[in-house]
Formats: sequence, structure tokens, C-alpha cells
Amino acid sequence: MEPAAPTIAVVMPVFNEEAVLPEVFQRLTTLFDAHPENIWRAILVDDGSRDGSNTLMVAQTKRDARFESVVLTRNFGFQAALAAGLSVADQADATITLDADLQDPPELIPALIERWREGAGVVLAVRKSRQETGLKRLGMDLFHATFAGFADSSRSEQNTGTFGLMSRKTVQAFNRLPERNRFFPGLRAWVSEDVAEVTYDRQNRAAGQPKQTLRSLVRYALDGVFSFSRLPLRLVSYLGLFIAVIGFSLGAFYAVRRLIGIEHAQTGFTTLVTLVLFLGGVQLIGIGVLGEYLGRIYDEVKQRPLYLVKHHHHRE
Ligand code: UDP
Ligand code: MG
Repeated sequence: MEPAAPTIAVVMPVFNEEAVLPEVFQRLTTLFDAHPENIWRAILVDDGSRDGSNTLMVAQTKRDARFESVVLTRNFGFQAALAAGLSVADQADATITLDADLQDPPELIPALIERWREGAGVVLAVRKSRQETGLKRLGMDLFHATFAGFADSSRSEQNTGTFGLMSRKTVQAFNRLPERNRFFPGLRAWVSEDVAEVTYDRQNRAAGQPKQTLRSLVRYALDGVFSFSRLPLRLVSYLGLFIAVIGFSLGAFYAVRRLIGIEHAQTGFTTLVTLVLFLGGVQLIGIGVLGEYLGRIYDEVKQRPLYLVKHHHHRE
């Protein structure tokens, strides 16, 4: 007996992507048609789009039963949209995650599936090249370099984004992770086993503008650091210790000078001001770091759902 055809889910968060969606549908359909050995499920998550994306997606689900669309009640952000898609994909044998802007070419999907069939639990699509330039690129490189230092991420993870494949087991493990502040590549690395890689050239956005603002990327980067490491707290402790030792030595030094009568004059105003301001600054940074963790704990204890679903369009 032939083994049953595996179900492959393709999860794609969509936020105001009307300009690229027709090409997305067309390229996915071509791919699906070329590989009838798999049962395909394209799970498009509408993250509160305000343009024509929703209409296009609903029309597509009516046209082709392999497409379904999960509509969130409003814009919850990329991470939440991805989580929504992954929870719908819970029962698929393997799940592909990719951006809707075609920066991640769907044509690579068969190569990812191939590695999964060979036994990989997670297949990462590793970028040989990137299209981002300038400040954004610098920020991304800086982030990946520091993140690699903070968490035990492997080298290849530095060049991966959303694009990749997860087996059913890893998706289900991912869906069970309870945290609210979600940094997808980090969490995927956390649940992954038997990681394989496939390299590719990252494309330019097929159309439209990037939907993630620099601000949301910075927030994402902070989530990456604070949710995966306590190093900032430790650094602050070390800094405090370092300054305390210097302060103590200086104190002893001046006390001795005073006692043996070398120093009488009331000098040192500049030193004093400098020290007060410096220590004030260091303390504020310390409090800020504490606040980052505290705020995240606050988010976790509230136990709010990551997203709310309005509709799930699919044809039975
Ligand atoms: N996206 C989303 N919700 C948002 C912002 C973006 O679902 O609030 C989707 C977007 O439609 C795209 C993916 O997330 O499919 C990546 O977004 P974008 O291409 O803007 O990010 P970048 O390429 O700059 O990382
Ligand atoms: Mg993009």
C-alpha cells in the first residue's frame, strides 16, 4: 500500500498585501499543481488588513479549496499572526512558514520538504544574500551579532528569518509554548530537533512597501534579547560591582589622605558633579533593564490571548 500523502501547510501572515497577493496565489498554485503527491493547505492569516487583501483572500478560498484564510479581529502584529497560523496548522504533517511579500521564494519549498522527508524536524532556509541595505541592514547585522553572543544560537540562525519548515511535532511543541512575547526564530530554535538547512538568495519585495516598521523591528529585537537571556541583568550587576569597588578604593584613598593630613582644602567640585551624574545615569540604566524584564513578566501574568480570530474561511 502506498503511504498516505503528507499534508503540507503553508502559513503566511498577511497585512495590507493586496499588491502582491495575486502573484502569491499564482505561484503557490503552480507549486501545488506541480506536486500533487502532497496534500496542500495554504493558511493565509489576515492580520487586520485595511486594504483589499481580505477580499482577495476570501475569493481565493472560494476558488481553490487548498487555500483557507484566518481573519484576525484587528492588527496584532507579525508574531501573533504567525502564531495564529501555526495553531491552525497543528495537524499538518509539516508546516512551512513564509512572508507574503515573496522575499522568500515559494519555489524553494520542495527542497525544504525533501530535507524533512530525509528526517529533519526543522529545516531552516538560510539566506546567502540579503536585499536590505543602509541603516536597516546595519541594525539587523548588529542584532544578529549580539543575539548570537547572548543566546546559544548557531551560526546559521543568524541568516534565517521566518522562512523554513517545521515538522508536526515541532509545531505542536511550539503551540504549547505559553509565552506572550514571541520571538519566532528563537522559539523555533528552542523546540527544534534534527535541524537541516537549505540556502537561497533572498529576493526583493515583489510589490508594495515593507509592513514592519523600524520600530516594530526594534521591539522584535528587544524581545529576542530579553526573552532569551538574562545577560543584561548580569551585566548591570557586574557594572555595579565594578563601580562599587572603584568607589570603595577611592573612599579609602581620600580618607587616608585626610587622616595623615595631606589634604585639607575643599576642592573636588567637578569630580563630585561628575560622579553624581555618572552614578545617577548608571542607576537609571539599571532600573530600565529591570523594567524591561518586569514589563515582560507583567505581559505574561495577564495571560491575554495573543490574537483573536474573527473568521476562518475554508471550503470543506
Ligand atoms: N505582517 C503582518 N502583520 C504586521 C506586519 C507585517 O502580518 O503587522 C506580515 C507582512 O504582510 C509580511 C510579513 O509579515 O507577510 C513580513 O512583513 P514585511 O515584509 O513588512 O517585513 P520585513 O520584510 O521588513 O521583515
Ligand atoms: Mg518583507
